[in-house]
Amino acid sequence: MIAGRYDALRERVLQANLALGQSGLVILTWGNVSEADRVAGVFAIKPSGVRYEGMKLEDIVVVSLETGEVVEGRRRPSSDTPTHLHLYRAWEMVGGICHCHSTYATAYAQACVRLPCLGTTHADTFYGDVPVTRALKAQEIENAYEDATGAAIVDAFKKADPQDVPAVFVRQHGPFTWGVDGMEAFEHALILEETAHIAHVQILFGASQTMALGYPNEGKLDKKLLEKHYMRKHGAAATYGQ
Ligand SMILES: [Zn+2]
Repeated sequence: MIAGRYDALRERVLQANLALGQSGLVILTWGNVSEADRVAGVFAIKPSGVRYEGMKLEDIVVVSLETGEVVEGRRRPSSDTPTHLHLYRAWEMVGGICHCHSTYATAYAQACVRLPCLGTTHADTFYGDVPVTRALKAQEIENAYEDATGAAIVDAFKKADPQDVPAVFVRQHGPFTWGVDGMEAFEHALILEETAHIAHVQILFGASQTMALGYPNEGKLDKKLLEKHYMRKHGAAATYGQ
């Protein structure tokens, strides 16, 4: 294969998709990761309907952020590409996006239930509840459905910063997560799945009977603890890591 102009970006997107394929978050071809190169004005994304095993750099598709057209690669891009495009256009600070149908996160999405911040595992990554998107209008479902899904995600963050809570449940569908690059977007999908799993187990324990009635404040993490944990890893005064 002749070296392509976007090989470095495609390689990163390949590795993030392979990581997703091996993570246990997806079966078959479900799920996709993309990453944007803002300087080049493109993003690279998984091809549509291609298995993770044996996926190669040349399978990864490069799409223009301006036109939405494929600019490199012979495959058709993921069917969710218009959703990714919508988010990259709306949120300039986002560098990578991941979508999957992992079990617990998808259960929350299907139930249309926000994931409340119940503990510090959640607070380390998500600065508050993970929201659910609005319902799509019939017209949106009929025309440009995947783009409308992106619009609904953006609407869910009208009053919140998507960098503070880098995840959403698309109503009756599944989770989308994002980050500075594709690998971080994938890692946020992993964390979201684990956090949703923990919340589910907590409900089974009956640790908070009131939670089943709509998660009132009693069951939620103290605001000070939420801030403490989130700010240890994020922001100017972060102390976590090397
Ligand atoms: Zn999906």
